[in-house]
Amino acid sequence: MRVAIAGAGLAGLSCAKYLVDAGHIPVVFESRDVLGGKVAAWKDEDGDWYETGLHIFFGAYPNMLQLFRELGIEKRLQWKSHSMIFNQLEEPGKYSRFDFPDLPAPLNGVAAILSNNDMLSWSEKIAFGLGLVPAMMRGQSYVEECDQYSWTEWLRIHNIPERVNKEVFIAMSKALNFIDPDEISATVLLTALNRFLQEKDGSRMAFLDGAPPERLCQPMVDHIQALGGEVHLNSPLREINLKEDGSVASFLIGGEREGEPRNVQADAYVSALPVDPLKLLLPAPWKQMDVFRKLEGLRGVPVINIHLWFDRKLTDIDHLLFSRSPLLSVYADMSITCKEYEDLDRSMLELVFAPAKDWIGCSDEDIIAATLAELKKLFPMHFTGEKQAKLRKYKVIKTPLSVYKTTPGCQKLRPSQETPIVNFFLAGDFTMQRYLASMEGAVLSGKLCASAVDGSAEKLSTAQAISKALPS
Ligand SMILES: Cc1cc2nc3c(=O)[nH]c(=O)nc-3n(C[C@H](O)[C@H](O)[C@H](O)COP(=O)(O)OP(=O)(O)OC[C@H]3O[C@@H](n4cnc5c(N)ncnc54)[C@H](O)[C@@H]3O)c2cc1C
Repeated sequence: MRVAIAGAGLAGLSCAKYLVDAGHIPVVFESRDVLGGKVAAWKDEDGDWYETGLHIFFGAYPNMLQLFRELGIEKRLQWKSHSMIFNQLEEPGKYSRFDFPDLPAPLNGVAAILSNNDMLSWSEKIAFGLGLVPAMMRGQSYVEECDQYSWTEWLRIHNIPERVNKEVFIAMSKALNFIDPDEISATVLLTALNRFLQEKDGSRMAFLDGAPPERLCQPMVDHIQALGGEVHLNSPLREINLKEDGSVASFLIGGEREGEPRNVQADAYVSALPVDPLKLLLPAPWKQMDVFRKLEGLRGVPVINIHLWFDRKLTDIDHLLFSRSPLLSVYADMSITCKEYEDLDRSMLELVFAPAKDWIGCSDEDIIAATLAELKKLFPMHFTGEKQAKLRKYKVIKTPLSVYKTTPGCQKLRPSQETPIVNFFLAGDFTMQRYLASMEGAVLSGKLCASAVDGSAEKLSTAQAISKALPS
């Protein structure tokens, strides 16, 4: 079957990869001139990379890790020590670590939590541990039920002191969805904690050894093309044209600076767009259908990714750091953590600025000034006295609508990969799969979508595709 796919983020490329493996011919159309969507990156005039986001791969990403193995690129993941490292706000320049020993899960996680005495008291650890028992015992069904609560509400229900939020979970919730614990659904944190506590290497982190478009997306494209598929950049989906029965007749692709738009016909059609642009492209007759109507409740969250090139080393830590700053989320010294960005003498800090809703409209200069003010609190030794660290250059990348905002109640709004339209399918991290809005979620959604398309082959081969659920 020929399958037209709009969007060359990880979901669209994963869908194309698994379709081509199943013997189909995927044709991918990406609106921008770069692969990867939210993992896209570019080179500046000096040849230095800057990225849409600082990206971490976890041991609990089975589909992503399998994809790396299938592409023969697993050595490109640079695994770090099995730890979680937090800045100590009360002792600037110092860190607090959760080190996971080489024990089976959940013992390694329990040992990591019990052996950290900087952040939580014993009574807080016990209260939190007891709160997690239902999630550990009942698994995913309990985790899904908790989508009615924010994380802060969930802590209150379990009598877990507010200080636990302040010490640990503001940082984790900003890392997972760029919002605070008052807003994030408890399902998000519980899903992550469950994976981290139930899989020995679940919370182990890796950095890619270079920029994602070259080091991860390009091998996917090479694989797709080698087996007869196609990937086209600068080819936006403009319109979804319908047949009389409401199923897809063609994708209108291109136009404006890409030349005359053209109608592309295929046996099946996939949207691997983020939810916000998808909503704008939905044909009018589909908008009242339950599955598409629910999409109105999903909306991308703003986030800002910052790159700071300094004239000297600020850290020697080869790992992700949780800043615990009110303005910043996680950060890393990419000159240490990522092979291609290596600089032995000078730091390049990549930082996620979140929550960003009050900052997304501000100038780059204001955002950098606020970031540096926060860094001065984290590393006063580098920014006071005579030999202060100098900022050589910076780059600010704003994403006003990034991954969907995972507030309570969103789980029931997420669509499956199969839709009521017989020849139209969905991929993307917002579609229903158990890994939330993440790279793993995007790759898994693409795989599930490819399997749904493949499973519909017989139905689709009948000449007249009949829409299953159009209002009569
Ligand atoms: C700052 C930041 C940090 C992150 N950190 C992590 C992390 O550490 N770990 C993790 O697992 N995840 C992280 N994520 C999330 C992760 O990047 C996303 O979940 C994942 O990349 C989404 O993939 P996707 O394919 O679903 O969507 P996207 O990557 O958004 O891909 C959609 C594609 O569709 C294209 N498109 C849009 N409109 C059209 C159109 N009309 N026609 C054709 N193409 C179109 C877009 O250009 C894009 O290429 C982070 C995200 C951000 C923004």
